[in-house]
Amino acid sequence: MTAGIVNPPVWHASTILFDDLAALDAARSHLDQGLFYGRRGTPTQWALEEALTALEPGAAGTKLYPSGVAAIAAALLTVVRAGDHVLMVDTAYEPSRAFADRFLKPLGIATTFYPPTADVTAFLQPSTRAILIESPGSLSFEVQDVPAIVAVARAHNIATVMDNTWATPLLFSPIAHGVDFSVQALTKYTGGHSDLMMGSVTTTAKYWGRLKTKSYLLGYCVGPDDAYLALRGLRTLGLRLERQGASALAVAEWLQGHPAVARVLHPALPGDPGHALWQRDFTGASGLFAVVLKRGSRPHTAALIDHLAHFGIGFSWGGYESLILPVELDGIRTATSSDSAKLFAGTQIVRLSIGLEDPADLIADLAAGLDRYEAQF
Ligand SMILES: *Cc1c(COP(=O)(O)O)cnc(C)c1O
Repeated sequence: MTAGIVNPPVWHASTILFDDLAALDAARSHLDQGLFYGRRGTPTQWALEEALTALEPGAAGTKLYPSGVAAIAAALLTVVRAGDHVLMVDTAYEPSRAFADRFLKPLGIATTFYPPTADVTAFLQPSTRAILIESPGSLSFEVQDVPAIVAVARAHNIATVMDNTWATPLLFSPIAHGVDFSVQALTKYTGGHSDLMMGSVTTTAKYWGRLKTKSYLLGYCVGPDDAYLALRGLRTLGLRLERQGASALAVAEWLQGHPAVARVLHPALPGDPGHALWQRDFTGASGLFAVVLKRGSRPHTAALIDHLAHFGIGFSWGGYESLILPVELDGIRTATSSDSAKLFAGTQIVRLSIGLEDPADLIADLAAGLDRYEAQF
């Protein structure tokens, strides 16, 4: 089909023409096979879907969405209906929480937020249909016991949805750990170059038919140029993660020894509360973590962040260039266990996404930034 060209062509299509009515009727009868209409995709999108499915042993298929948030929404909407109850980890990505509070709730679907390290059994209701897992947690990096949550969910016939954006399937496979829906914001590491918005949901045979149908009914699809960019990012994902993970750990270790730093939130550090679970379940760490500063308040953080040479100030992460942002947990968490609520109350937290730069340059940059920070006291 591609005449020896290495990569799949970028097929742009809305209309697809048929030779005759018999051919049109034959194509109509299968939802997910062959060309029919642009919303069902073209070989460009299918190549990305197949590659993502192949990354997770035990998966039956993958659907693509215009963003990571859309992917999380689609996974949840595949399994819940009015009257159902959702358990969502308290450390979930903030827009996932907003989707539960402001979209699911008015539909009659209630959500309870559970602490990331809690036994979920205590939070189950007779109508619980889905449990959302995100590990490590957004902003504060708590590691969840995924196999333990999956065991409880399976015993009660509850679907599990995991936001696996931090690890990607290369460092943790949700499907291989028994999770039903493996979600990625491809926007982050898979895209990898800060120029793409996309999400994916990979699932097993049990839910594949339902995911396909619900996603089609919702009208979700992605453009072929974007699918091509994600596929291109995927080719180098392993190498980038290896480098970014190693650089991030080097920066994290250096920060841990800095007198201005109270704690580094990074599960690959041996002293981290999530380290043992991370070591048991993950095959590596990506390049996103956070640092808790000993003193100061939000106005002080500008001195640290504003004049860095190698860190951009902006949302998202997982790109080739390093980013830095202050983290605000106040008002975001509702269920957090007393420990982490106390731990983070009134502190300054800064999140770093480590890119492909030389880690020595990044450390020198942060050293100067922390000198500026400390000079204020
Ligand atoms: C960014 C992000 C998302 C959402 O991805 P978008 O493509 O920005 O919608 C979901 N989960 C996590 C953990 C993220 O960091």
